[in-house]
Amino acid sequence: MSFNINDTRADFPILSQKVNGKPLVYFDNGATSQKPQVVIDAISNYYQEINANIHRGVHTLSQLATDAYEESRKKIQTHINAEFDHEVIFTSGTTQSINLVTNGFASLLQEGDEVMVSALEHHSNIVPWQMLCERTGATLKVIPMNEKGELIMADYDKLLSDKTRIVAVNHISNALGTVNPIKYMIDKAHEAGAAILIDGAQAVPHLKPDVQALDCDFYAFSGHKMCGPTGTGILYGKEDWLNKLPPYQGGGEMIKEVTFEKTTYADLPHKFEAGTPHIAGGIVLGTAIDYMNSVGFDNIQQQENELLAYGTARLLEIEGLKIYGTAKEKTSVISFNIEGIHPYDIGTIIDKLGIAVRTGHHCAQPIMNFFKIPGTIRASFSFYNTKEEIDIFVEAVKKAQQMLS
Ligand SMILES: *Cc1c(COP(=O)(O)O)cnc(C)c1O
Repeated sequence: MSFNINDTRADFPILSQKVNGKPLVYFDNGATSQKPQVVIDAISNYYQEINANIHRGVHTLSQLATDAYEESRKKIQTHINAEFDHEVIFTSGTTQSINLVTNGFASLLQEGDEVMVSALEHHSNIVPWQMLCERTGATLKVIPMNEKGELIMADYDKLLSDKTRIVAVNHISNALGTVNPIKYMIDKAHEAGAAILIDGAQAVPHLKPDVQALDCDFYAFSGHKMCGPTGTGILYGKEDWLNKLPPYQGGGEMIKEVTFEKTTYADLPHKFEAGTPHIAGGIVLGTAIDYMNSVGFDNIQQQENELLAYGTARLLEIEGLKIYGTAKEKTSVISFNIEGIHPYDIGTIIDKLGIAVRTGHHCAQPIMNFFKIPGTIRASFSFYNTKEEIDIFVEAVKKAQQMLS
């Protein structure tokens, strides 16, 4: 499949906008991706043509909406290579996917049990586990990292024991771009008799996870970081685990039978999908996945790897600039600071020049504490970004440095 950057950029209407009078340079893809026209159109087409509530009506529109929603579920099943479509649960995002699991584990854990996260996690993959530990008396263990921002596998091996019930780790770090050795971690967790959840929020924009080959118990991700709408997400769970966990929320859709004496729950996946979901979002997440596959993940990775190498080399030209996160395996995220300058000040100045980057702790305060910094400037590149944009960005950062020092 050939990749033409100009054609690809033309798919994203926002990229031809001006911001503060300058052509937009969007390097905040780690926070959310931009949306191609096909995705934008699919949202309005849904409301114009088939809007109705799903799984409820015998009428035609309700059938059409239900079919489109379930077709999208199957598309996602195929995309991540899940064994069954009922292992794919629609959620509002990674955060809700993780909370669904931690909430369920509350009935399975007791004092003395251990839950493990890593030093590289997003707050969404820390706080729900802490809340779970508070509820159950389980203990939270943390897999440490080294100066490059890589998890230390020797320490992971030592921390695992027959007390470990579940490990939760991200596939790729949002703050540093580190790609974690999750296959190794999954196998080790299973050897210790523990379950493992992978937070794939930053992985799915760059690669196609194969949940059966990985053999993970849970895999969580958001739609909005992979060209899809906000408010959409997926929890993949192995059938056995999803059957073991109690429902997350009670309400319509998730029941088999309700009386005031007792309610029985619906089968998977509906047991975890209480209430009217984000129907348009769920359907259009399928459109976003089709779009990404049409660009091709090989092309996506090649473009992003080139941008990472180019961006890293160009930024290192700047005196006093330090990059945080230098893992051997990393994706197109560059987190950095310039000596003596607060990241926020640089972010503010380059915004005036039309450049969108993230500044701050990136919902990963423990990582910032590790490096003893308040935050970083984070440029995260997507396949629709270019080297020319990196040049504009580097010149803008140099200019900000001059103004601030
Ligand atoms: C963005 C992100 C989350 C949270 O995703 P939401 O879409 O905000 O629910 C969790 N983990 C990682 C690694 C992320 O990048």
